[in-house]
Amino acid sequence: MSQYDVVVIGSGPGGYVAAIHAAQSGLKTAIVEREPTERLGGTCLLRGCIPTKAMLHTADMLETLKKGDEIGVMASDVALDMAKMHAYKAKVVKKNAGGVSYLMKKNKIDVHLGHGRLAGKGKVSVEAADGKTQTLSTKNVILATGSTCFHLPFIDMSPARVLDSDGILELEEVPEHLVVIGAGAVGTEFASVFLRYGSKVTLIEMAPRVLPSEDHEVCAEAEKSFKKQGMTVLTSSKVTDVKADDKGVKLVVETKKGDKTSSQTIEASHLLVAAGRAPRTQDIGAKGTKIKINDRGVVEVDEFLRTGEPGVYAIGDIVNTAWLAHVASKEGILAVDHIAGKNPRPINHRLVPMCTYCSPEVASVGLSEEAAKEAGYDVKTGVFPFSAIGKAAILNKTEGFVKIVADKKYDELLGLHIIGPKATELITEGTLAMELESTIEELLMTIHPHPTLAEAVAEAAHAAMGHAIHI
Ligand SMILES: Cc1cc2nc3c(=O)[nH]c(=O)nc-3n(C[C@H](O)[C@H](O)[C@H](O)COP(=O)(O)OP(=O)(O)OC[C@H]3O[C@@H](n4cnc5c(N)ncnc54)[C@H](O)[C@@H]3O)c2cc1C
Repeated sequence: MSQYDVVVIGSGPGGYVAAIHAAQSGLKTAIVEREPTERLGGTCLLRGCIPTKAMLHTADMLETLKKGDEIGVMASDVALDMAKMHAYKAKVVKKNAGGVSYLMKKNKIDVHLGHGRLAGKGKVSVEAADGKTQTLSTKNVILATGSTCFHLPFIDMSPARVLDSDGILELEEVPEHLVVIGAGAVGTEFASVFLRYGSKVTLIEMAPRVLPSEDHEVCAEAEKSFKKQGMTVLTSSKVTDVKADDKGVKLVVETKKGDKTSSQTIEASHLLVAAGRAPRTQDIGAKGTKIKINDRGVVEVDEFLRTGEPGVYAIGDIVNTAWLAHVASKEGILAVDHIAGKNPRPINHRLVPMCTYCSPEVASVGLSEEAAKEAGYDVKTGVFPFSAIGKAAILNKTEGFVKIVADKKYDELLGLHIIGPKATELITEGTLAMELESTIEELLMTIHPHPTLAEAVAEAAHAAMGHAIHI
């Protein structure tokens, strides 16, 4: 029987990063994955971050070319070839998943294919697809089994035209009319993809705002832009009934406006249910251990990702932190550093960048204006629009703004909120500044190259101090 220092169950961005870091830390490491060998990488690589961004890149390119004549690029007959788009997406996914397999070999990590379960103290069983089971012996286990699509109980997901985020990735045709339930990151990203692929899109959100966890000004700007692009957006709206057959979908939607509720029936060709994710913790062998799993299926951990069972850690989409690839990876590194006795610093979850790759992109770090006020800060803000930024004009993408939230007393940067071109790249400036506990004065003192989109961050800092230059 093999003896390991660490066995990681699950090869998503939590698990595979943890395994690499463990091997690099001199720990004998194995990883267990249920998918076939060339498909390491988890939701992120296979059904999440990577394939969706490949689709979004195609949508961006299509939009840019369609608007080409505005900047002197006369590209006539611009059209989408879905089969080629899928081939390109598959190539990107394969390259990345292959990269993970290569890194497992390079770091001498044993890959065991099959369903992993805790099997008593210091033991993990691996049940292969053919039913054969082997047992691994290990000092520590990191559970990184991730999440699956959450399905609303009243919606039958079996008709072909009712899709979740896994199903829509494989859709061979462009829907005539796509209804999306859920205006969070996943819903708005797919809505942005298919709107630009040529579908009519209706986006339905139960909360009063799209992207409800973002700063209110950002939510309003996103909704305004979606509508301007031709999307129908229904907020404060609840889908109460869905009927589907092989021709289409019929939904009943109730919308609240003040005290009044109105009801309408929407007919569409396809429905995407993007109402959230569910942790995959049902069959990990937790029964009879001291691991606590709450009624939502989430594993309880401390700040070092330790479960109640000695030597067993849990990371990523199965714990109660933001369900994002970069959070899962950071948690994997922290758990390993704790196992290796490196006395690591817990993660500051206030500094997690949140990114949504819809069009326009949205990204944020730290407190929104509302959250900062609720937390008792005397808040000042600075907003600077991309319409006043030279590089945005060059890129022909002048929508959106950068908003800084700061504490009046010490000018401490409390939050950065961006909607507009490359927001998901620009946000790292705010994350780093907040990690360094910068003031907004330090942010504006930092020389920003010209012409760049990043100038909007410095200008927002100027605006917060009451002296924006270019507006
Ligand atoms: C459509 C979509 C788009 C997304 N886009 C982004 C994005 O742009 N940026 C971002 O940060 N996040 C994004 N996410 C979220 C991100 O994918 C997840 O937060 C991340 O993948 C979680 O990583 P993880 O390691 O916890 O789990 P996962 O990536 O879910 O990986 C878990 C792995 O464990 C395996 N497994 C499960 N149970 C067992 C078992 N018992 N034995 C063996 N193997 C098992 C699974 O097969 C899977 O491979 C997106 C998600 C979706 C659905």
